[in-house]
Amino acid sequence: MGKVLLDLHIHSVLSPCADILMTPGNIIKKAIEKDIDIISITDHNSVKNVKSAIEIAAGKKIKIVPGIEVQSKEDIHLLSYFENLKDLNSYYEKIYDGLSNIKNDEEKFGYQIIVDKNDQFIDKEEKLLMNSTNYSLNELVNLTNKFNGIAVPSHVDRSFGLIKNLGFIPEELDIKYIELNFNKSITEYYEQYPYLQDFNLINNSDSHYLNQIEPKMKINLTKKTTTKNIFKQIKQEKPKKYIIL
Ligand SMILES: [Zn+2]
Ligand SMILES: [Zn+2]
Repeated sequence: MGKVLLDLHIHSVLSPCADILMTPGNIIKKAIEKDIDIISITDHNSVKNVKSAIEIAAGKKIKIVPGIEVQSKEDIHLLSYFENLKDLNSYYEKIYDGLSNIKNDEEKFGYQIIVDKNDQFIDKEEKLLMNSTNYSLNELVNLTNKFNGIAVPSHVDRSFGLIKNLGFIPEELDIKYIELNFNKSITEYYEQYPYLQDFNLINNSDSHYLNQIEPKMKINLTKKTTTKNIFKQIKQEKPKKYIIL
């Protein structure tokens, strides 16, 4: 494949905080316009638009990495990426069970819309997705690993981020990757948090609006586009090389 552009953190209309125009079809169209080769739709505590997104992307020059962003009981966000829909769904079943049964208030939090492969409304998620699950961050990481996924704490230096909430990265966390907000250079991050040098850093848009979708990483992908190969390549390259600021 050669050089590929990535944005692995985008919210669809299923996330109540995302704009109503963020249908999988519109996201894919925008990403292609921006020359992005690989995206992930990572909704809050749900995966119900991922299958449609994969179906919409079929035959187009864009790949979808199956993913989700889950909120732990410590109010920390964790991205989890999987090789296929089956593993993503196995993880999601646990997540859905661990999410309190509070009904979404559309007026207050926003719509939680599910679309079909034609990008048309088919249903609404009734359970409020903007909420913590009853799993600890450590449990979420272990569950992700159990289903063969890759766990990445989101925007660690921002609200709902690991470093912002805890002030450090617990040693027992079985993680290799960290997502940063990148409001400063990599050198400045290393100065402020020297322990970040032990991890592979990633950068994504965390888009909630179509105009926020931007390529954020560029890697040299010579092997097949699988989730494992993408992350293996990130591990091999230097952050300065693959992160687009
Ligand atoms: Zn988040
Ligand atoms: Zn997010």
